[in-house]
Amino acid sequence: MQLTLNPVKPNVEATRKFLSSKDKKMLLNNEWVDAQKGGVIETHDPASGSLLAIIPQGTQADVDAAVASAKTTFEQGTWRNMLPAERAKILWRIGELIDANIDELAELETLDQGKPLGVARWAEIPGAAEQFRYFAGMCSKLESKVIPSSIGYQPPGKRVHSYTLSEPVGVVAAITPWNSPLILTAMKLAPALCVGCSVVLKPAEDTSLTALRLGELCIEAGLPAGALNIVTGYGQVVGQALAEHNDVAKISFTGSTQTGRKILDAAKGNLKRVTLELGGKSPMIVLDDADLELAIPGVANAAFFNGGQVCVAGTRLYVQEGIADKLYAGIAEYAKGLTLGHGLDPATQMGPLVNPLQAAKVYDYIQSGLADGAKLLTGGGLGGPHSTFVEPTILTQCHNNMKVVREEVFGPVLSSMTFKTSDEALALANDTDYGLAASVWTQSLSHAHRFASDIEAGTVWINSHLMFDPSLPIGGYKQSGWGRESGMDAVLNYVETKTVCAVL
Ligand code: NAD
Repeated sequence: MQLTLNPVKPNVEATRKFLSSKDKKMLLNNEWVDAQKGGVIETHDPASGSLLAIIPQGTQADVDAAVASAKTTFEQGTWRNMLPAERAKILWRIGELIDANIDELAELETLDQGKPLGVARWAEIPGAAEQFRYFAGMCSKLESKVIPSSIGYQPPGKRVHSYTLSEPVGVVAAITPWNSPLILTAMKLAPALCVGCSVVLKPAEDTSLTALRLGELCIEAGLPAGALNIVTGYGQVVGQALAEHNDVAKISFTGSTQTGRKILDAAKGNLKRVTLELGGKSPMIVLDDADLELAIPGVANAAFFNGGQVCVAGTRLYVQEGIADKLYAGIAEYAKGLTLGHGLDPATQMGPLVNPLQAAKVYDYIQSGLADGAKLLTGGGLGGPHSTFVEPTILTQCHNNMKVVREEVFGPVLSSMTFKTSDEALALANDTDYGLAASVWTQSLSHAHRFASDIEAGTVWINSHLMFDPSLPIGGYKQSGWGRESGMDAVLNYVETKTVCAVL
């Protein structure tokens, strides 16, 4: 694929300022520090390959220092024992500061990850601010229960008073991936901080810049020292050390299912609490009676939004035979019409993948699908100045035992096939190791809710795909993970329930 990028520059003075000093530091006890061993990692613009910044390459020593800082803050209670209303004010302020710096954060995210500026500016960065505001409201609402027990053996004349307390679990290690860096970070930090935990954050090595900028905003918002520490570096080193660390009480991980398994292994030493938000292979079922005006852009957007680098992306399309020709024609036209380019170029609708390795991996999946007998409806090309662009690709005549249908591709590749009956569609949709999300497209209420009930996935959308809100729990069935983020459920990830039983 031939692709020449239009020249682009950040428009926002603050972005230019942030990037003007190339050497970034990480956050330890509200101080900005280098890695103790002095190692660094270069971070590049995935569209052009140009150097953006240099981040510290943390090691075990940095993890130990960050965990010690978080533990001290937790034990001293400077954050956890702050009045809930005061914690709420600080979380709310973080949300407000994200909004106040939204243009800079959006440009940084686009430069670091590659996504179109509109995705960062109008969806993800505001979404991160909303997470902090949603959980700010929760700080003062963590109620416990008084429980009417039936214990019959207390001393005569005495009564039993039983109740529960929700207590913060302790030091939390938050490990995040590269596809939507700031919002996925906010989905962990906001609920963990809301309940009073102290956090050590390890952002993805490819996309650490907005996490570091968020660290600055957290200090500005008044977050006490040690409540948030950030250690940048490689997963096998920093992530692994956090997952193994005996003073970390909880790992909150978002990333691939393969890494999720490694984290489970590493976490077993002190039986850490573990939440896993993992990969997906989300089906989209389009029935004959679907409203195509909704379904065509909806299905195509679900597959190609953020270049398909979305855990809940619609990647398996099951189309009922009677509507297949029209749907395929519509989504092929949509895909061909997408403008690829640098995320900062206002004309761009789809950016690059995060690095050349990921683009090559996605390209290999397309080739494997074709070798297995799929037909190329559109796309299939790889190119760009840094070999990071993959064309939006639609494969038809797939079947469920192809590798491209079974495994998570994490790029702009939609695999599709037709079905005759809704029972067949349900069986195809559920024939997967994953269970993160799904969508069903139909005008029949009955079909819609039958599918919603029978599909094995943590989220089912009806006549839409990719709708999020901080109030709506999200997470996986099967090998897509353990636990839920967003909503009240997210708070439960970070608390222990203590039962108190008193004889009065
Ligand atoms: P990844 O698993 O390679 O890395 C995720 C994070 O884990 C990174 O910070 C990485 O440095 C770290 N890591 C790597 N090896 C580690 C180890 N041995 N121990 C501890 N940490 C380690 O994932 P990725 O490629 O960055 O992101 C893409 C994946 O994330 C996809 O599978 C996608 O579906 C998933 N994801 C899931 C959700 C969700 O909510 N379920 C959301 C977004 C992304």
